[in-house]
Amino acid sequence: MNNQALDTLKTYFGYGSFRPGQDRMVQAILSGRDALGVMPTGAGKSICYQVPALMLKGLTLVVSPLVSLMGDQVRSLLAAGAHPSYLNSSLTVPQQNTVLRRAEDGWYQIMYVAPERLADPRFMEFAQRLASPGGYGIPLVAVDEAHCVSQWGQDFRPSYLQISAFIEALPQRPVVAAFTATATERVREDIVHMLDLRSPQTVVTGFDRPNLFFGVEELGDKAKAAWIRSYVAQHNQESGIIYCSTRKAVDELSAELSLALMPQGIRAGRYHAGLGNDERTQNQADFIDDRVPVMVATNAFGMGIDKPNVRYVIHNNVPESIEAYYQEAGRAGRDGDPASCYLLWNGNDFRLRRFLIEKSRDAAGLDEDGLPRPDLDQEQLERACQNRYRLLRQMEGYCQTTGCLREYMLRYFGDEGALPDARTGAQLGASQPLSAKSDGCGACSNCLTEFEVEDVTQVARAIVEFVAPRAGRFGKTLIADALHGANNERVRNCHLDEAAGYGALEDCQMARIKDVVDQLAGRGYLSVSQGQYPVIALGPRAVEVLGESSGDGAASATPFEFTIKRRS
Ligand code: ADP
Ligand code: ZN
Repeated sequence: MNNQALDTLKTYFGYGSFRPGQDRMVQAILSGRDALGVMPTGAGKSICYQVPALMLKGLTLVVSPLVSLMGDQVRSLLAAGAHPSYLNSSLTVPQQNTVLRRAEDGWYQIMYVAPERLADPRFMEFAQRLASPGGYGIPLVAVDEAHCVSQWGQDFRPSYLQISAFIEALPQRPVVAAFTATATERVREDIVHMLDLRSPQTVVTGFDRPNLFFGVEELGDKAKAAWIRSYVAQHNQESGIIYCSTRKAVDELSAELSLALMPQGIRAGRYHAGLGNDERTQNQADFIDDRVPVMVATNAFGMGIDKPNVRYVIHNNVPESIEAYYQEAGRAGRDGDPASCYLLWNGNDFRLRRFLIEKSRDAAGLDEDGLPRPDLDQEQLERACQNRYRLLRQMEGYCQTTGCLREYMLRYFGDEGALPDARTGAQLGASQPLSAKSDGCGACSNCLTEFEVEDVTQVARAIVEFVAPRAGRFGKTLIADALHGANNERVRNCHLDEAAGYGALEDCQMARIKDVVDQLAGRGYLSVSQGQYPVIALGPRAVEVLGESSGDGAASATPFEFTIKRRS
């Protein structure tokens, strides 16, 4: 590592070493290379651009949407002995003029600006003078919350689209470093593209939370409530959060828990956007100050709350994405002590989620008066919905995988540091072949469960061969019905009772056939379309099954084998 960078880290921030990933980011920036840092909140992103900013000649611009945090950043940099500044609407116009003048005179090493500022012609002229030969210089532009540039993300900000034009208009191109906590491949590609990053050094790190235990339980609705009651009763000395997907569920569950906990002299709090301001504030304070151990809440609860001693987070329902889940579950164990995260789920959760996606699609098509919106960009709306279905399927994969839960999520985030090997070609949710099975993390419910291995090669082959001639036309249930030999109206209407393969899996249980379909999809042999009524098509690996039977030699040397793991 560059000694000077280490010195800077010590001198200004008092830290003895860089965290994993920080050093590579700093190194890349100092060597003049663009960089993309994907790190969760709290992993130490700011150091990655602050250290170079303090070392490079000229003014580093930091684009950040969080105007309220700029002041904090500047104050702590000032306290560290650096020369920071910010320019935003909280300053009066004369104050802004002073900041700009001083910046041109070389007073500052770093300046925080909101993205909207980049479109201001006065600011543009200022930056151009600074970056021209003989000017003080702009060696680095750091873009915080860079996922805001992506329309795939949930926080898209049109003002972010101006960033690349701003940079391009500078007489000399600075190094560009982007930072985000959103790690999906899609969003990452978008950031590189929209910010025009040039072969950026990409660092994804810091997602693992070793002190958290992850558990998944498939339970019916009643069984969920019973499970939670029992868990809370057994952990009544501990602080925990229970997330529900609707306000109604929050009200019911918190009442039920309070009743159940009455003999122990405690009650459950509740929190959702439907409560009055006073009650919300009061309930939150009761929880934070440990007067009430359990908080039952919608996802409206938790933003900006940093309670260190939350010992468990239970999800009574399935969140909309792995990201949302990891963020909410991650509120457990902030103090570094062991904590648990459980996700309870059943088919109703996914039905509700799909319903909500369709509802949002319908709602987007209407204006405030309930009239159709002619200006609606149908294509964009469709893309957004497909994206939400994709996120939901990955959530489904998490619920159904028999592999290590922690590994599933880290793989999803692309966290290289915590993974045994680089990404395999397989789709998300793919369980490793058993031969390559690692011992797992030892701290998730799947790693602690004994699974039976079962060879279902024949079932898998029958399914793929049945899907092949009618790919993309039927859903999972209908395909399973036909293979099972069901003689119902839908099967007859679709003439599947006349198809080759009808009844081929007569002796196999319906649930088993559907399970194998899911697992085939998870490992890339089949694919499932997004939508309220998903249909099954072939996946990229289907040739490994079909190539064999067609005997054209296209298949790989190893014969197709398919095993699944079941809880024993
Ligand atoms: P982020 O911007 O990713 O949310 P911050 O930059 O605010 O994270 O850093 C989170 C915390 O970690 C801060 O308290 C910061 O001082 C600390 N930190 C960052 N880098 C290091 C390091 N190399 N050594 C020790 N602490 C660090
Ligand atoms: Zn595990």
